[in-house]
Amino acid sequence: MSPAWRALDEELARWRDSGRMVEFWWRDDDAARPAPALSRLLQLAQRTGTPLALAVVPLRADAAIFEEIAPGLAVIQHGSDHCNRAGAGEKKTEFAAAEPLEEACARLVQGRERLAAQARSRFVPVLAPPWNRLPAPLIPCLPAAGLVGLSRFGARAAAPRAPGLRQVNTHVDLIAWRAGRGFVGEDAALGAAVGHLAAKREGRADAGEPTGWLSHHAVHDEAAWAFLERLFETSGAAPGLCWRGAREIFQVA
Ligand SMILES: [Zn+2]
Repeated sequence: MSPAWRALDEELARWRDSGRMVEFWWRDDDAARPAPALSRLLQLAQRTGTPLALAVVPLRADAAIFEEIAPGLAVIQHGSDHCNRAGAGEKKTEFAAAEPLEEACARLVQGRERLAAQARSRFVPVLAPPWNRLPAPLIPCLPAAGLVGLSRFGARAAAPRAPGLRQVNTHVDLIAWRAGRGFVGEDAALGAAVGHLAAKREGRADAGEPTGWLSHHAVHDEAAWAFLERLFETSGAAPGLCWRGAREIFQVA
């Protein structure tokens, strides 16, 4: 076993020793059109029995993808059209700071309605904004847009949350976006997971937030696929650890 896997093992043991359950969840972004990588992702979720929250781009979604998504999987909303509207000096974002709130909100509603109609019982009204970015003034508008959850990246703040909105983020990004867009590597991925778990255990992060693994099927190289396989295989058998589905963590009936 490599040092990175051993470190995860040891962290899991610390949680077990303290009698606490480790909660993981899995989000995958950018589904829109049928593609071999999407089929592979869905098969991996099925075969390993891992609850997947598939973030679909509503206004670009091809109806054919829903034929492949098993009834037990969760479909969440990945923005609306995934267009980059960033203004000068702003990082990539669908929801630019300069965009009027009503316009952004109307687009979100349009996206939610389309996705709900297509994904039907698999739809869970949670927004995962593209590039994990959403201007703060838009957050209180989400419940009115019919969205009960928000998922971005990084340990959530303990700051007051918008009423009617649950925030559960992802904490481990499998892709090295600025270094070739391949797998980030076992050390980085497992290090991020162990870091978040340790922070929760030591009270430096909100212990009620499940640790989220973020994948992007369209850019996975073989190393990324192999890592996910191993992660699900290892963690599926680990006592005191469970993978939570989107419905559970966002408390949607
Ligand atoms: Zn995206």
